[in-house]
Amino acid sequence: MNYARRRSGAYRPLAAQSPKATALRRPPVRATPLSRVAAPLPSSATTGRHSTLGHTGCPTLLKAPVASTSRVAAPSSLRPTRQSTPTILAQRSTPHGPTRNVAAPPVAGRVRGAPTATRPPSELSQLKDKLLLLEQELISKTDQLKSKDDQIKMKSELVEMLKDSLESTKIKLETVSMERDTLKDLVTTLKDQLEQQKATIEKEAARSKDLIEQLDEKEAAMRKLHNDVVDLRGQIRVAVRVRPMLKTEEEVSSASIIEYPSTNAISFNQGAKPSGTFTFEKVFTPVFSQQSVFANIEDFILSALHGYNVGLIAFGQTGSGKTHTMRGGEADDEGIIPRTASYLFNESKKLEATGWKFEFSLSFMEIYNNEAFDLLNNHSIVKLRLINHTVSLDGLTEHPLTKQSDMAGLLNVADRNRKTAATKCNEYSSRSHAIYMWKIKAQQRSTGISTSSVLKLVDLAGSERAKESGVVGQQFKEMTNINQSLSVLQKCINMQKAKSTHVPYRDTKLTQVLMDCLGRGNSKTMVVVNINPCNEQAVESKRSIEFAAKMRETHIGSAVQQRDL
Ligand code: ADP
Repeated sequence: MNYARRRSGAYRPLAAQSPKATALRRPPVRATPLSRVAAPLPSSATTGRHSTLGHTGCPTLLKAPVASTSRVAAPSSLRPTRQSTPTILAQRSTPHGPTRNVAAPPVAGRVRGAPTATRPPSELSQLKDKLLLLEQELISKTDQLKSKDDQIKMKSELVEMLKDSLESTKIKLETVSMERDTLKDLVTTLKDQLEQQKATIEKEAARSKDLIEQLDEKEAAMRKLHNDVVDLRGQIRVAVRVRPMLKTEEEVSSASIIEYPSTNAISFNQGAKPSGTFTFEKVFTPVFSQQSVFANIEDFILSALHGYNVGLIAFGQTGSGKTHTMRGGEADDEGIIPRTASYLFNESKKLEATGWKFEFSLSFMEIYNNEAFDLLNNHSIVKLRLINHTVSLDGLTEHPLTKQSDMAGLLNVADRNRKTAATKCNEYSSRSHAIYMWKIKAQQRSTGISTSSVLKLVDLAGSERAKESGVVGQQFKEMTNINQSLSVLQKCINMQKAKSTHVPYRDTKLTQVLMDCLGRGNSKTMVVVNINPCNEQAVESKRSIEFAAKMRETHIGSAVQQRDL
């Protein structure tokens, strides 16, 4: 901090002295020649170099009749002699600068060339004051100059820094724009490559689409040929479906011993005693969805629209997946029965374009303890009568189906009726045979041809043996009836296979109803044998497969179109 000396001799901080304040404190100064001496500053004032009052190199100052600071020459009358300089100069120091020489009070008689008549003391004191003021002003100006100088220095440093920063930003900008150009080039190259790859992929996709279409066509042709061969041979078609293990089963059962040597073969890997391989029309492994199972059998169902009697029967022990395959659940889980409705309506629409007209009616019934019941008419009893190798179902209601959406309503009624009956008996549904019958009338006006065919979709009761299942009482009776109907079914198939002249269809209600499916020459029949994948059920599964193999060898004769006379 700069300090200025007060008159009293005490110092006070300079910074506190605003120019205004300084001016206010100044004693009134009359214009004197002294004001002229303050103007030209000797260089030592800014450099801080010492000057000596006794110096004689400043003629102006020599003429000035006042005392002086180190930079202002004292009047000659006041000027000390060379010899006396050390003694008459009082040294004063400021906190900032070097020690300044301040004029000591003039000593009369010691100044060379001064007029002998000395000035009056009041004027001298005024001059002293003025001198002091000037000196203060000089210090303040010097400090201001120094601060300006510092500011300029700082600013120029700042400018330098900004210059540097500008330079480095410029360099960065150049680097970034170079990188951007490189990236641009890269993007262009990648775009080109992508376009090329796109074109290649599109070409490949078109090629594979062609190949898939060719494959589909070939497969359809093969399936048709195979159907024709089976038709000519008059065989029962047999497919096997192995359901996936349920979550609860996975927890307790080890990996299944069932193997699939090819798309239509199945075997049981029982270590030292292998089962051998069984071949069927199709083997649906656990990965087959409801939709893909249906896609594999829809051609067969189409025969019903073409005027052939068609029977599709689900066989297998309880819990093997028969109901899931035939009835299924909702949406994607829908089974063959609801899918058949949408398929037949769609296909009939296509045939209508070639002049055919179709009428559908539905009857749902079940056989429980060797009695037939109408599932669409309050579970009322249905009487069966055999007339010339055909069975008449007295009391079974027929429900016309004019649009596909009606199917859901009819299925609901049937489910309700089955459920009501089920509350009376444990596991009822697996102990009754459910038969969903379509009567299809087709007519082509242009040719006058008309056909009446029947499509039967059958969910058989469980095929497990009563003895092994350990049931007693009512359940034993149920199981005996089931087993009787199933064993008669097997017997019929065996005898049919052996081309026996007498086949015991009359023996049970089930075989009577299915007679046309298992009999000679008027039905195309497919059996889907359902298999439980758990090793604990391997014995029953093998038994089902062996029966399925026998069915496959059974000749029921080629189906004939059911033309109306
Ligand atoms: P069944 O009619 O032979 O007694 P279910 O159809 O009732 O047997 O099937 C028994 C259980 O297995 C049911 O819980 C059923 O949902 C399930 N199931 C059967 N087949 C499949 C399958 N393909 N995918 C998934 N679950 C199935």
